[in-house]
Parts: sequence; C-alpha cells; structure tokens
Amino acid sequence: MNVTHLYCSSCGKEYEPRRLYNLCDCGKPLMVAYDLEHVQTTLSRESLTSRVPTLWRYEEILPVDAQSNRITLGEGMTPLLKAERLGLLLGMGHLYIKDESLNPTASFKARGMAVAVSMAKELGVKKLAVPSAGNAAGALATYAAKAGLEAFIFMPSDTPSSNIIECQQTGANVTLIDGLITDCGRILSDRKEAEGWFDVSTLKEPYRVEGKKTMGYELAEQLGWELPDVILYPTGGGTGLIGMWKAFDEMERMGWISSQRPRMVSVQASGCAPIVEAFNSGSQFGAEITNAHTIASGLRVPRAIGDFMMLDILRNSGGSAVAVTDEELLWAVKEIGVAEGIFVAPEGGACLPALKQLISQGKVSRDERVVLFNTGSGLKYLEAFGMLEQK
Ligand SMILES: *Cc1c(COP(=O)(O)O)cnc(C)c1O
Ligand SMILES: [Zn+2]
Repeated sequence: MNVTHLYCSSCGKEYEPRRLYNLCDCGKPLMVAYDLEHVQTTLSRESLTSRVPTLWRYEEILPVDAQSNRITLGEGMTPLLKAERLGLLLGMGHLYIKDESLNPTASFKARGMAVAVSMAKELGVKKLAVPSAGNAAGALATYAAKAGLEAFIFMPSDTPSSNIIECQQTGANVTLIDGLITDCGRILSDRKEAEGWFDVSTLKEPYRVEGKKTMGYELAEQLGWELPDVILYPTGGGTGLIGMWKAFDEMERMGWISSQRPRMVSVQASGCAPIVEAFNSGSQFGAEITNAHTIASGLRVPRAIGDFMMLDILRNSGGSAVAVTDEELLWAVKEIGVAEGIFVAPEGGACLPALKQLISQGKVSRDERVVLFNTGSGLKYLEAFGMLEQK
C-alpha cells in the first residue's frame, strides 16, 4: 500500500488514507499522494515490460490494496496509433492518435470507473450513484455489475440511446431527467444521503482521476519515455487532463521522464466551452454556461468543479483552449475515419478542427509530435450521424 494521504487540490488540507471521502471541507476535489520511494522498490520502467496489458500494470501507483478488489474488464493499454495518412493531409510527420475507443464500454470512462469502483468496493460501499451525460454512466453500470454492487444513474433524457440501453442491460437503476448533467447532479446530491448512495461524480471522489492518469503513464511508455510536444484533449469535466498532468509529475519525481512537458490543449464544443471562455478571459474559474448544447455529449459539461486545475495546467504548460462547432467536429469524424480507419466519437473528432486552427494560428508547427485523444467510439453516437445524413 503506497498511498500516504489525500490532499485538497485547493487549500492543501490533508486527509488520512483508507477512508471514504467525497470533496474537501472547502468544497474542492481531493487528490491522492503516494510514497514514491516505496513505489520504486518494485515498480520501474524496465519492470513494466513483463506486466499485464491493462492499467493494472501500474498497480503500485494506483490506490487499491487487495488484489481481490481490483475490478477489471481489460481497461487501459490502448494503442497509440501513428496517423500516417491524416498526417500526410496536414503536412505532419509525427501525428498520433491515442485510441481510447478500445476500452471496455468503448470509452476512456472505463479507466476512471475501474479504479473508483474498485476503491469503493475496498472501502465497503454497496450503492454507487453518478450523474452522466453519457459514457460515465455505462462505465459505472458495467464495473458495478462486475463488482456485484448497485448502480444508480441520472442522465439527461436526450443522452445517446446506446448509453441508456447499455446501463439498463447491465442492471443499473436508470433515471432520465429533463435537463443537463448539472441538473442530474443536483438531484443526486439532494437524494444521496437518504438513499445511502456514494457519489462517484467527476472529481467528487478522489479515484476516477487516478484511473485516468494511467493515460499519461501509457503515453510515456509508448513513446519511449519522451512525452510529445502537444496533446489535444476533448475536455468536459477534465479528469483526463488533470490525471495525465499528475502522472507526468509523478514520473518526473521517480526519474522516469525529464521536466519537459507537452503543451496541453483543451478542446471543447462551441455550444459549451466554459474552459475556452475562462482561458481567453484570463479567469481562474469557469462561469456556468446556460443553454449548453452539443452533439458531443461528453463535452456537455456547463460547469466543471476542477476548472481551476485545468486552467492552471493549460497555462503552465504553454498550451491553450480551443472551441469547434458541432458541424466541424462531426465532419472531422468522417475525415479521420476515411484517413485512418478509426470510427471516432464526436469528442475525438473535435481534436482535428482544433489542430487545424492551431496550425493556422502558428501555435503548433507541422514538424512537432502531436497526440490527439480519441476518447470514445463513434458506435455509441449513431443518432448523431443520422442527423448529419439528413442535412
Ligand atoms: C467524458 C468524455 C469526455 C470528457 O472527459 P473529461 O475527462 O471528463 O474531460 C470526452 N470524450 C468522451 C467520449 C467522454 O465520454
Ligand atoms: Zn480544501
């Protein structure tokens, strides 16, 4: 067990490990700290070569104690594909796609939920609840089923049907709400105490981000311990962005990588771009977006509790934040599909027009090593493509 304590991302207050927590007393997210010296007694870059091809290959730097509590459906260790033909179209020789659609439940939400559900099981939780605009719901439902725990899910009624059906078919209790994910979150908050639910909302418990950070470890491992120049990440709640940044920090402190960091770019949909607006206006926090709308349901997060962490990362890395329209991101799905043979989620598609914007503004040069994150599969969004054909 290498977790030393938990700490608040904002006020720094420390908490004992092996207890159930949601937010800090100050209302901000908690993060996990490890004894990195002890981690390194068994975990090294070399030791990884003979390990399981899932995120549990990094077990020493993950919070779950008992092997029997590690709930796995084969998450993580997704391919980092060289995008040769797309690169050719853009005049780029070092373009990569980290294809997260190959995770269980066809999105990277599996990483976070694998670790959060495992920890919940270890800490004795029986009932888990989440508000979700899509893929988090399916991931919670499947991992809860595998763990033998109950899942309670609140989704906007216009969530893609694949997400709703996936939850129902894996035994979750599903409630559809006429509203946004923030409305779902409020309803969950009001009821959780009386119902005995543990809230696994994005960044409202400390372990989903630990699962998502493994994307950072994998990137480094797959690129021979040299990080790329630029990472484009479709951003909703921001766990992946925050998690990868934490992974880079841990790896540097273990001497696995240098202090060089990628420029982190947050990609959002123009109908819901609180991080882009806050980044451009120099704010420390994002303002809640009213009337948030986008077909990329994973990006439909009108206000993120970890906004201040994301904005810090974007600024400290010399990165930026870019908004693209739904029309642009949907057409990009096809452009990536035709060039690379990957049927990406609309969220993943959004990275391509964002990259084009950055190139034309001179913020990314064509000879840099750039990684686009495809965070899910297009197969979960069939209605969205139906709408495109009707146009
Ligand atoms: C949830 C989700 C996102 C946003 O992820 P965060 O880490 O919460 O910012 C992006 N793409 C897809 C497909 C998602 O399901
Ligand atoms: Zn605090």
